[in-house]
Amino acid sequence: MGSRSIRERIDWLWQLGRQHSSDFCGPDASLARKRYLAEHPTHLMVLKCMDGRIHIPYATNTPLGIIEPLRNLGGMFHMGWPYLGEVVANSVTDAVERGRRALIIITYHFSKGDPGRGCAGFGYDTAASIRYVQEIKGQMEHTFGSARQTVYPVVFGFETDEDALILHGPGGEWNLAEVEGHPDEETLARELRQLYPDMPGRILADLLPLVVGNIRHIAATRASSRQIAVEHREWVICIGRGFDFLHEPNMALIVGPFSPDLSGPIAMAAGIIRSNMEFGRIPDDGFLLLASAPYREAGMDRARAELKARFLSQFADEVIGREWPDLYPKMIRETAVLDWNTRHLESLGPATA
Ligand SMILES: [Zn+2]
Repeated sequence: MGSRSIRERIDWLWQLGRQHSSDFCGPDASLARKRYLAEHPTHLMVLKCMDGRIHIPYATNTPLGIIEPLRNLGGMFHMGWPYLGEVVANSVTDAVERGRRALIIITYHFSKGDPGRGCAGFGYDTAASIRYVQEIKGQMEHTFGSARQTVYPVVFGFETDEDALILHGPGGEWNLAEVEGHPDEETLARELRQLYPDMPGRILADLLPLVVGNIRHIAATRASSRQIAVEHREWVICIGRGFDFLHEPNMALIVGPFSPDLSGPIAMAAGIIRSNMEFGRIPDDGFLLLASAPYREAGMDRARAELKARFLSQFADEVIGREWPDLYPKMIRETAVLDWNTRHLESLGPATA
């Protein structure tokens, strides 16, 4: 990957998008999703850092398309941000009107091997990121009720060396990397109950497969003795939503459209790309700015998505041009919309300023 030209890397990225869509639409995957939802009706959302290493479906062996991901730099969110509040509230309302409950997983991440592999967004300060996500959980409880019988917000840590989840609850902390032997589901469910004494039984039963999946994934990770992705090697800045397919570690920096001040995260992402080039971690022949907005229906919804994607691309273009003028000429801009039903990423062609 490392030595290929920027054009080759971009072609490869679109190929990855096409592959993801065709996997997602295949009968196996779509039936697996339907069955999963029938067995586990709780609506799952996860708030996470833009760091590509944090991929919850992959780390929990959950079919893609079940967990709704919201990504932003450093996993920073505030329910007072108008657009974020809107997205979360709409998603929850949708689920609740269909008789489903919601589990909102708010994550921070760190590396047990080296603090330098932690979250750049928080200056590698794990304690600060935990305080921050606990605050988001408080905002969720303010919004959806502190009895948590319909919407249950939780804080999870994500340890990136082994992809291990650390569950935080009223009953303490549970690091899934420390689970010994091969406990059966009943034992794990009892542990969960101790950790979350007030969690509705339905939500607990739907959280259980994530726990089981993560324990298996940790074991597989250990067995594979995979190389830990130590360094930043990102060469793509993604802005918007619909980047599920980019779960290669350390390839893309994803800036969600949620914060009312997008310029900070965009400038920071561009700064990381610049230092990647400066230190020779990526070729310096170019980087990609990929903007995307998802739509659910043809017509008006798609037309709006097109405008959103173009606006975000133009906005990021201006920020990068202003903040990193020496990096700016190396930018290649591509803009797309994502059909949420098929996960098809459709290019809107090269950007015109
Ligand atoms: Zn991070």
